[in-house]
Amino acid sequence: MKLYNLKDHSEQVSFAQAVRQGLGRGQGLFFPQDLPKFSATEIEQLLQLNFVDRSAKILSAFIGDEISAEDVKRCVGNAFQFPAPVKSVESDIGTLELFHGPTLAFKDFGGRFMAQALVQVAKDNKITILTATSGDTGAAVAHAFYHLPNIRVVILYPNGKISPLQEKLFCTLGDNIHTIAIDGDFDACQALVKNAFDDQELKSAIGLNSANSINISRLMAQICYYFEAYAQLNAQQRKNLVISVPSGNFGDLTAGLLAKTMGLPIKRFIAATNANDTVPRYLETGVWEPHATVATLSNAMDVSQPNNWPRIEEIFKRENWALKSLSHGAVNDEVTKETMRELDSKGYLSEPHGAIAYRVLRDQLQAGEYGLFLGTAHPAKFREVVEETLKHKIDLPKELAQRADLPLLSHFMSADFAKLRQFLMALDW
Ligand SMILES: *Cc1c(COP(=O)(O)O)cnc(C)c1O
Repeated sequence: MKLYNLKDHSEQVSFAQAVRQGLGRGQGLFFPQDLPKFSATEIEQLLQLNFVDRSAKILSAFIGDEISAEDVKRCVGNAFQFPAPVKSVESDIGTLELFHGPTLAFKDFGGRFMAQALVQVAKDNKITILTATSGDTGAAVAHAFYHLPNIRVVILYPNGKISPLQEKLFCTLGDNIHTIAIDGDFDACQALVKNAFDDQELKSAIGLNSANSINISRLMAQICYYFEAYAQLNAQQRKNLVISVPSGNFGDLTAGLLAKTMGLPIKRFIAATNANDTVPRYLETGVWEPHATVATLSNAMDVSQPNNWPRIEEIFKRENWALKSLSHGAVNDEVTKETMRELDSKGYLSEPHGAIAYRVLRDQLQAGEYGLFLGTAHPAKFREVVEETLKHKIDLPKELAQRADLPLLSHFMSADFAKLRQFLMALDW
């Protein structure tokens, strides 16, 4: 597989290099040189397969002979150990639930496949993943790399500033997952990570890697659940399928569009955002004008400069699609809450991100179309806002309930790079 840097097409890398590096020169994103296409018959055959077998074929179509089909399948099998079911919400709308993984959000799919891919391409080199988190990404990274050989993970988080339940989710694992509660805020944690990456001696001594969210392997994994959704629909629902994607950094939507480039017959996509509506405004006016980021109930989408957008533009350009064909809408917090109540009254328990995608879909779905919205997080992940909005209690899923009683294994540290450096250098394999 060959990929090029969107900021400098002369930088070309293999899949292994793209996975290891994450970003190219000048912070440019990597994009596949060839976009594999399946014929209608091949799509039909793929739809007959189970989730893991089908996903391995989709990923191998991209990766080619750089990694053997058996190795790809083993990575996928290790990564995708939970289902992505489509649930019916109304006669013409369903939801693809992507939150049945260990950290209850769709990021488990991309994160876990990236972890597997990294182990695969690292060969026998040892890698230390260092990352700062204000909650969610830390949990996804920790669970994705848990128990993997030759990899250890060090996660910094602001002491006392993440929810107790979130802390339990990733600070109770042990083994190759090391968590440090930093006496400071999230910015202090990020500054420490940056110090570490600027320290060349440290970097090569411990094999530092960021496993960042922009890694192409994440997006490739996410393509697979669009096929999985389609496989679960009946012939009528497949005919005029519209998919609404709650978007922040626009990785999920990029993956959906890539599924379409491969030949999956999706009529159109809807980009749904919260008040951070840079993309919907851009699609209306043609002017790219990010505002300051505002805090909303759907905080995983509080992004005003979505970092995957250049990949989306590249897809439209490569496929000769009109950007105008991308449907879009933005939903504020008030309407988000009303929509959560509306869904609850229809018997579907939602959370702010999925509710936003439902809202725009419901408002824009046309006669004869079938709509799917992505359920990106489990309602329990946003328990406070869900319970307060719906005025009733919700149950904790077993992934969270199980961990709630385990002891925290975190270290404590002041925001002092010399201390962190010493800690990293002394870590055993
Ligand atoms: C990350 C996230 C999103 C946004 O996904 P992008 O790929 O960044 O657009 C939506 N919902 C939830 C729950 C998330 O965690």
